[in-house]
Amino acid sequence: MGVLEKFSLAGRTALVTGGYRGLGRAFADALAEAGADVVIGARDVAATRQAASEVAAATGRKVVGVELDVNDRASGRAAIETAVQRTGRFDILVNNAGACVHRPALDVPDDEWDAVFSTNVDGLWKLSQEAARHFTTVGGGTIVNIGSISAQIVNRPQWQPAYNASKAAVHQLTKSLAAEWAPLKIRVNAVAPGYVKTEMAPVDEPRFKARWIDDAPMQRYAVPEEIAPTVVFLASDASSFMTGSVVVIDGGYTLH
Ligand code: NDP
Repeated sequence: MGVLEKFSLAGRTALVTGGYRGLGRAFADALAEAGADVVIGARDVAATRQAASEVAAATGRKVVGVELDVNDRASGRAAIETAVQRTGRFDILVNNAGACVHRPALDVPDDEWDAVFSTNVDGLWKLSQEAARHFTTVGGGTIVNIGSISAQIVNRPQWQPAYNASKAAVHQLTKSLAAEWAPLKIRVNAVAPGYVKTEMAPVDEPRFKARWIDDAPMQRYAVPEEIAPTVVFLASDASSFMTGSVVVIDGGYTLH
């Protein structure tokens, strides 16, 4: 097999949570371009269906938009069932859906803390477990979690304690599941992006420039298309000996 063929996802099906905008949309585009059929799942069902038809038109792959709330285990299970029913299989889970709230720790109400953890950690856990239960019936699969440099550093000037702690949990859960599920031929890896221009990260706001941009060795933010190739790599046979890895993609931000 040639080296580029190892990156091919032809004949596989991926589920991307939160895949209609931002990073998730770039992942859906890239996975489909690499040959995968794709299910996009998020709470805004109109947006997921619109994105699915755009990705399908651009790539010629089968792409399905479904309503999915990662907090709701049943809707995660239904998204996986849709993948199997509509494409005949399910091989790749990209746990991309995430939430972030900027607020000083002294002011964070319980419901806000719970909402961030519920989406970023509990939701990722539930979908990973549902996916892995399917993967055990078909001989394996891959999971790519979207972590963050916020697992390693404390972002400034804004405070986001729940988000930072939740992403540290994502990185450690990635390693824990990777170790436990390696004998089941389920690989679990994560990417940890730095600042990427999306609705979650208002990278153009002047108040963030000194910390977010000027502090980064590359002196810029990323666009989602710069993170997507690594997700394809981690989803594909090109990374066949990788599991439990957290790949930092941050323009050097976390270098000291
Ligand atoms: P966006 O806010 O642009 O997109 C988030 C997506 O997640 C939306 O499609 C949203 O759709 C979906 N989502 C949120 N909650 C749920 C839920 N409960 N169930 C299903 N889908 C949900 O964010 P980004 O693209 O910036 O972020 C994507 C991932 O990348 C997140 O995990 C984030 O933490 C991570 N990340 C982002 C960085 C950045 O700089 N942008 C840096 C590092 C990591 P809907 O609300 O309709 O459900």
